[in-house]
Amino acid sequence: MSYATPPAETRQCTSCRNVLTLNFFKLDHQECRHCEGKRLADLIDASSEED
Ligand SMILES: [Zn+2]
Repeated sequence: MSYATPPAETRQCTSCRNVLTLNFFKLDHQECRHCEGKRLADLIDASSEED
């Protein structure tokens, strides 16, 4: 029986530099979901501007 809980695994986002738990990252991704979502939104914004 272990007494102390191990620290949650964290990873630093390569985009925003925030250190977040792995819950915020897709498997093997170095960019957090926030940045990934923002990047996708930017892409959609950029493409819709042309209309
Ligand atoms: Zn990020």
